[in-house]
Order: sequence, then C-alpha cells, then structure tokens
Amino acid sequence: MANSWRRERWDSLRLLTPNWQSRLPGLRYDGADPDGYMTMGEVTEFVERFAKVSRAPVRTGVTVTSVRGADDGYRVVTSDGEIACRTVVIASGACNRPSVPPLSAGVPAPVEQLTPFDYRDPGRLPDGGVLVVGASATGVQLAAEIRRSGRPVTLSVGEHVRLPRLYRGRDVLWWMDASGVWDQRYDEVDDLTRARRLPSPQLVGTPERATLDLNALTALGVEVAGKWATVRDGRALFSGGLRNVFSLADLKMNRLLDTFDEWALTSGRDGEFDSPERFAPTAAPGSARLQFDLRSGEIRSIVWATGFQPDYSWLDVPVTDGKGRLRHEGGVVDSPGLYALGLPVLRRRKSTFIHGIEDDAREVIDHLAGHLAAR
Ligand SMILES: Cc1cc2nc3c(=O)[nH]c(=O)nc-3n(C[C@H](O)[C@H](O)[C@H](O)COP(=O)(O)OP(=O)(O)OC[C@H]3O[C@@H](n4cnc5c(N)ncnc54)[C@H](O)[C@@H]3O)c2cc1C
Repeated sequence: MANSWRRERWDSLRLLTPNWQSRLPGLRYDGADPDGYMTMGEVTEFVERFAKVSRAPVRTGVTVTSVRGADDGYRVVTSDGEIACRTVVIASGACNRPSVPPLSAGVPAPVEQLTPFDYRDPGRLPDGGVLVVGASATGVQLAAEIRRSGRPVTLSVGEHVRLPRLYRGRDVLWWMDASGVWDQRYDEVDDLTRARRLPSPQLVGTPERATLDLNALTALGVEVAGKWATVRDGRALFSGGLRNVFSLADLKMNRLLDTFDEWALTSGRDGEFDSPERFAPTAAPGSARLQFDLRSGEIRSIVWATGFQPDYSWLDVPVTDGKGRLRHEGGVVDSPGLYALGLPVLRRRKSTFIHGIEDDAREVIDHLAGHLAAR
C-alpha cells in the first residue's frame, strides 16, 4: 500500500501540496500543522489510514501482470491468481517510470546517470559536478538539495511553470483552489493535449514555506543552462534563448496571479488578503554556457528530472496510443467497462493531485454504475 510513496521517492521529499489540502473521500488532514507539508512517512500513514476509513477490500503486494478482454468483461491475471471482472478501473498512477530522453545514450560512460527513482540523497552521488536536467518540481528540488551538499550544480532548463510559494499571504495552491483554477474541467480547457503535458510547478514543501524558483536557485549558486539539445563527440550541447524561456514562464505566472486578483475582487474577498504583488523577473545569466565537455571530469553525474510516464505493459487491451498514453474521454477508456483515474487533467486540472481524486472518482464511478445497470 502507498507503494509509490514508499519506494519511488527520495528521502527529503515532502508533498508540495499543503496538509489541509490532503483530502480523500471521508478523510481530511486533522493534525496540528494544516499549513505544513507531509513527509513521505506521513503520506504513507495517510494512505494507510484511508484504507482503514474507507474499509476498501485492499489486497497488498499483488501485481497485476495482465488485463485482457473476456466474454463478460475482463480477465485480470495477478501474482496471486486470476480475477474475472465486468469492469476495471485503472488507477495504476501517472508516474510509474522516469522519462529519460534518448540523448542519454550518448553520455560517455564515466559520467554516472540517475533518475529520481534511483536518487535518495546527495551523499550517494560521486563527488564533483552534477548536471540536473529539467527544472520542474523534481529538478528544482534536487538541484537545491545537491547544491546545499557543496557540489557544483548546473540545471538544464526547458519550458517550466514558475510559481511563488506564497501569494498575498496565502499558499499559492490555496489560490488555485479558491479561485476555481484547479476545478477547471477537461472539456473547458482550450488545448487539452497541452494541458495534459504541462510540467509540474516549481514548488517545494518546506517548513519555511520558501519559494524555489530559478532566482532562488541562482542565489544558492546553481548555474543555469538552456535545454539540453544533443550530445556530440562527448559534448553536451544546450539551446540558447534562455531569456525567452524565462520571459514566457514569468508571463504565465503573472497571468495566473492576475486571475487570482480578479477572483479576489469579484468574490468580494479582496480585503482579506495582503496587497497584490508582482515578483522580480527571472534573471537570465549574462552568458549561459552552451556546451559542457562530458569527458573533462567537470560533470561527474547527471540526474534526469525530465518527467515521468505511466506503464501499461501489463494491459493487453488495445487502448493506448502510439506514445503509450491511454485513450480515454474523461476517464472513460476506449473499451466498454474500462475506466481510468489519476491521470493528468483526467476530468479537472487537479486530477493528478491527492485532493483531485474525489470529484473525478464520483463521476467516473457514476458512468461505471450506468454501464453495469445497462447490461
Ligand atoms: C515526485 C512526485 C511528487 C508528487 N508530489 C505530490 C504532492 O505534493 N501532492 C499531490 O497531491 N500529488 C503529488 N504527486 C502526484 C501523486 O503521485 C498523486 O497525487 C498520487 O500519488 C496519485 O495516486 P494514484 O493512486 O493515482 O497513483 P500512485 O500513487 O502512483 O499509485 C499507483 C499504484 O499502482 C501500483 N501499480 C502500478 N502498476 C501496477 C500493476 N501492474 N499491478 C499492481 N499495482 C500496480 C503502483 O505500484 C502504485 O502503488 C507527486 C508525484 C510524484 C511522482
């Protein structure tokens, strides 16, 4: 139970969503620190508590090795026998495997390569320079932690989502919730494919409730480079144009803050918060390096913080597209009786977050019940 939180996360990780937001159907955070952020041990306990509260018939330590169509639904083969089901809900997670770009194959052998699944703490990295690739939640958190261990760190930055931790005195995720941004439905989003591929926000959950954007990382001494474009003759070549990448992230952040301010005014709650604020633009380095010689010894390890992807290798029903993504409409998978939950913007912008499951589950299960009733 809570397998991914137990086995696939690094030691210092805390949720980036505040405690008060961790809610599951029938279970809410009731501890002493609603504005804090859970450690991995606390998340595991929370999930275990939910199993008790919900009284769901959970079978732990069982791997599903195959799901295939059968006359009356689906046949599920597990490490503990077979199950015949009329319906199946795929809730196997959106982050089963780290996504590592193919250019990693060109990295010369002495450089150690790790994914967030392998990484536990900086002490297990070789001494010397570290290149962290990807500046979303995982990349910025690992870059900061590794830099604080004294190692030189370079962060390769592509498209990213910049957010302050606090805005007008409240957690920025409180604003996402209150203003309705997180409840925006999948069928109201302009470009759903893009929304589903949006990187995670640059946020970290720390007791100090500190912002961890690129300005904060630069202040820590992290060197910022562009998106890693290719490897040629043992050299890592990075894209230029960081200034544009930064401006776009700043622009999008400011648009979101505008949305929050507008909501505060129209809801009549503006007076409850500190004054609107705007943050310093992301400072572009004078001359970002465009290449690193990976054979020089300057970079001793690379951490691929380039995202995660689901694993459907066990799903023997033809419902994935060429990129391995599940074909579904709001969680109703393209095969009668097959459903999904917990995927990016499945039915709402909040779908992949812990608190996002409740509303999605209710609607998906309504459809499932209708399917069963119609038979
Ligand atoms: C690094 C990281 C940080 C995150 N931080 C936050 C956060 O701060 N707040 C937040 O709300 N969300 C966060 N998330 C998103 C988070 O993963 C989800 O909110 C939540 O865990 C989703 O739950 P889930 O049950 O859908 O998927 P998961 O937690 O991934 O659970 C899926 C389960 O299915 C199991 N499984 C998969 N395949 C099989 C199979 N074939 N047979 C049997 N079992 C299988 C997996 O082992 C796993 O236990 C984070 C995700 C990552 C990767």
